[in-house]
Amino acid sequence: MSAEPVTAAVERMRRGFASGRTRGLEWRLEQLRNLVRLLDEQEDEVAAALAEDLGRSKQEAWFGDIASTRGEAVYAIKHLRGWMKKQRQPLSVIQYPGSAWIQYEPLGVVLIIGPWNYPVVLTLGPLIAALAAGNCAVIKPSELAPATSALLAELVPKYFDTDAVAVVEGGADVTQELLAQGFDHAIFTGGTEVGKKIMAAAAPTLTPVTLELGGKSPVIVTADADLDVVARRLSWVKFMNSGQTCIAPDYVLADHRIRDRLVDKIVERIGEFERDGSADGRRIVNERQFDRLAGYLEKTRGTVAVGGRSTRSSLSIEPTVVIDPDPKEPLMQEEIFGPILPILSYESLDDAITFVNGRSKPLAAYFFSGSAAVQQHLVDEIPSGGAVINHIAMHYLVPQLPFGGVGASGMGAYHGRWGFEALSHRKAVLKKTFRPDLRLIYPPYTDFAMKIMRKVF
Ligand code: NAD
Repeated sequence: MSAEPVTAAVERMRRGFASGRTRGLEWRLEQLRNLVRLLDEQEDEVAAALAEDLGRSKQEAWFGDIASTRGEAVYAIKHLRGWMKKQRQPLSVIQYPGSAWIQYEPLGVVLIIGPWNYPVVLTLGPLIAALAAGNCAVIKPSELAPATSALLAELVPKYFDTDAVAVVEGGADVTQELLAQGFDHAIFTGGTEVGKKIMAAAAPTLTPVTLELGGKSPVIVTADADLDVVARRLSWVKFMNSGQTCIAPDYVLADHRIRDRLVDKIVERIGEFERDGSADGRRIVNERQFDRLAGYLEKTRGTVAVGGRSTRSSLSIEPTVVIDPDPKEPLMQEEIFGPILPILSYESLDDAITFVNGRSKPLAAYFFSGSAAVQQHLVDEIPSGGAVINHIAMHYLVPQLPFGGVGASGMGAYHGRWGFEALSHRKAVLKKTFRPDLRLIYPPYTDFAMKIMRKVF
């Protein structure tokens, strides 16, 4: 893509924002309703694009990309009026008479840089936050999901104010070119290494960034957990989208007393889900990712309990469970992002906590335990972007909770009110009256005046 369309799109968005049309509640609601309409009317087209790009089933397309985005938009429509309200703040006596409030101001033009793994919810999701906050937006979908990228480029102008939302297609070079224009905010979803490049490219124009990154999200299973439920929830989310989910469970630490039983149950569930056809999509997005994952399996020192086969011609890898890999091997060092589940055992809960905390802070952590005290202990002791007790990944679908990472798994958060806050400026406003106007505080200062002021302030 040449420099022309990039600059033209950004200029159009800047003019759109300068026109002032995006500021009012009604415009924002209209755009959000358009987003819901797009998802309702284009569900089949979106599912077809996801099938083409990722080999995803219609059901998982709905669950992963359509229902999640729709739910977020409907929630924003319901709550936006309340979010936009000024927040009055109490004043201390010395500020009397006067009043103070926080007022939410749109930032301007927001750049949304999306990944390929959930290419709809991770572009239109941030768009919900951008529109709710009264911004214009440029969306740069991932070039690695080309059918979805092309579909977004076709549909966005049909559903949204064309002077407020634009799609620019392309890869890393186009993203860099976009960032060089300078934005009022950039929200990036992708890998940690690319996240560093995004932050560096945003620095010269002081474009603030929200970075939604990845990492190794652990699962801890204690001896008193309901292993049937653990196995079902774990196998379902882990192998959805062939494990290419940022909050997929990366590895499992199970109490040594129940580890083998848990493995058996997970192996059973994988067999059942495969028969059902709902865990189709074992396809990996491209050859580079396939080779990386196949390499993990080749190098593993663990025991393969189920799966393990891969076929390069179809880019498919079987849902695989690896028992006791070496913590130093690539499978346990890098984010897996594929259908391979390492399961290790721990002797004491402290060992499990030390193991997790010896690595980068994860995007999510999952704790299965029957004890409320143990659950809370794990939440308290293990830093992570988010945590779920007795389930996997479901916090993503709760718009009342902020979604984001910490440390290497990201900075900033969005979803629901948090997205509105992330893409608004909280303007501090103090209002005073002309009278009274205490002469005492103005120069020339006297000892008497200073004495009074020291008492009052
Ligand atoms: P990626 O980092 O390779 O690419 C993401 C986007 O960045 C794409 O649009 C791409 O075109 C662009 N890009 C790539 N290289 C660039 C460069 N050098 N300069 C500027 N832009 C560049 O990520 P991906 O492979 O699409 O997605 C997988 C990663 O994303 C995983 O690590 C996963 O954990 C993470 N992820 C995080 C979340 C989250 O919400 N935190 C969600 C999904 C995926």
